[in-house]
Amino acid sequence: MPTFQSVRGMRDLLPEEAETLNHVIAKARETAELYGYREVITPVVEPYELLSAKSGEEIRQRMFTFKDLGDRTVALRPEFTASIARLATTALKNEPKPLRTFSVGSVYRYDEPQRGRYREFWQSDFEVIGSNRPEADAEIILLTNSLMKATGLRNYTFKIGHIGVIRGILSQENVDDKTQNAILQRMDKKEYDEAFNILNPRISRTLQGLVELKSSSAFETVKKIKAHVKGYDDAEVAADNLFEILKLVTESGCEIETVDPGFGRGLEYYTGTIFEVYTPELDIALGGGGRYDRLIEVFGGEPTPATGVAHGLDRIALAMGMQKTALPTRREKRVLVIPVNEELRGEALKISQRLREAGIPVEFEIMGRKMAKALEDADRRQMNYAVIVGERELKEGSVVVRDLAKREQTVVAIEKLSEKIRG
Ligand code: AMP
Repeated sequence: MPTFQSVRGMRDLLPEEAETLNHVIAKARETAELYGYREVITPVVEPYELLSAKSGEEIRQRMFTFKDLGDRTVALRPEFTASIARLATTALKNEPKPLRTFSVGSVYRYDEPQRGRYREFWQSDFEVIGSNRPEADAEIILLTNSLMKATGLRNYTFKIGHIGVIRGILSQENVDDKTQNAILQRMDKKEYDEAFNILNPRISRTLQGLVELKSSSAFETVKKIKAHVKGYDDAEVAADNLFEILKLVTESGCEIETVDPGFGRGLEYYTGTIFEVYTPELDIALGGGGRYDRLIEVFGGEPTPATGVAHGLDRIALAMGMQKTALPTRREKRVLVIPVNEELRGEALKISQRLREAGIPVEFEIMGRKMAKALEDADRRQMNYAVIVGERELKEGSVVVRDLAKREQTVVAIEKLSEKIRG
């Protein structure tokens, strides 16, 4: 038999990588707790129809889609928002608003594998349903800021834009939704020429002028956007909305570095503010989100405003590695329990259980090695103590505790063992 490899784009996370990812997941969960987002766990497999309804061509084409044995066309989720919108129109339909949900798990996209881009990756997802107010948009950005801070990342920056500005211009110019989506998709990839080619020269010039707007401060850029879209009523409202959100976020102490007037995002369902967060080490986003006020309606619910964000946890972990962000050190001491002979295995196991029940991590010598070899191995694996269970000490209700770093041994009563190990 040849040895097996994992499928292209799918990774094994070895213990250290798993530990880092779990640390980031724990931070995301703490952030959810701090902001009042309650966790929901949704299936990895969802109806293709649901996932494709408003995800956009880009993601639609990259979904892992298949027929199940019951002949249903299903797909692996490429993101969480569609599942949450499904819940908001079904099981959570009558929940008081705002509804704040948190989800974490793996998502799947047939992307071209490269550093920070995988086919199976992890996201934490936060959604606020039922508020059309800028405070809700600000909250999503602030919690992203809190998560970045909690992971110990430095020098991360926010980029913000507003889909309503671009859609406002296009709608007033009677460009249909499908064409608008195609344009936004290309803008997301910064293919502005291809994006605007399909429009008449006048509209094309307006949009070209918009994406080229730049300024030294975020607020100035928004003011310029407002001036540029004068006469396009919805676009002006969108610019005001962007200004207000920027103001709220800045006043709360979180800095937004860049306003990008030509910012589009691959997902089709966005209607308002959109944003992404970056670190200097990577040129791909660590997270992104925005407002999607029409999705729930598309899924058959009442028209309900909503906004949310997804964080790319693998990329956060990758950036932490690149910035050499230290993980918290283990607090508990690690112990190896070794019976001196075969007859004492039961007693030694009993002592192990006792320590574990006291919350002390214990490994038991399961290789049947001689004492010297077992101790050598414990040393190599940087364990703190060896508990040696021998006949003589056991008769007195005691064991030998060897401090592996200091190479010192003492006899300790079993009663006092966990106390001694904790130090
Ligand atoms: P999106 O909503 O598509 O912007 O995805 C949200 C976040 O998920 C992005 O900002 C990335 O951090 C992360 N992400 C998206 N695609 C991938 C991928 N193929 N591999 C790893 N992370 C990804």
